[in-house]
Amino acid sequence: MTPTVSLAVDLEVQTSVEPIVAWRTWALTGKRDGTDLLLRPVAGRSRPWRPLEVAEAACKHARMHAAPNVDCSCGLHGTREVDILRRTKSPSVLGRVALWGRVIEHQHGFRAEFAYPQRLRLVCQFCFWMWGATGRSPSVVGWFTRDELIPLCWGHLEVGARYGMHPRRLIGAPVIEQALRDRYAVDALPG
Ligand SMILES: [Zn+2]
Ligand SMILES: [Zn+2]
Repeated sequence: MTPTVSLAVDLEVQTSVEPIVAWRTWALTGKRDGTDLLLRPVAGRSRPWRPLEVAEAACKHARMHAAPNVDCSCGLHGTREVDILRRTKSPSVLGRVALWGRVIEHQHGFRAEFAYPQRLRLVCQFCFWMWGATGRSPSVVGWFTRDELIPLCWGHLEVGARYGMHPRRLIGAPVIEQALRDRYAVDALPG
């Protein structure tokens, strides 16, 4: 069972004033010079989470209901355990996220009405798939077509190149990481 699929029997809907803090990964986009950084959901090119703005859930299935909905997979997702996120497609940023408003709890985590990141750090997706949150910190961030920013450790930059992953530009990971935290006004996630 993935975090996006839940059975109604597992669900508990609650309205939470105190935020729940959960784990989450994002994709990252930005300009060639590393500005205009935006956290984005890892799946597809759906709406970015804007800096200093509360992210608000919308049902991407365009169903006529408020998100999150018990019978749907919509809502802003967060997981209880970090390891479940190792299945994520192309994570670039790992973080702790505050979830509040209407929150639906399921087996692996939560789907919420509102969210904002609390702590962020860049991850090399290959290291993260293999070792989870204890993986090495990325050294560089590759800038790819469509403004995709992909953090990589040196080893996986090399491996990626063998499989046709050729960044058009490389930027130092600490520079992007700091710029990302400044832009979203969040703290570092200890590695
Ligand atoms: Zn929905
Ligand atoms: Zn790596």
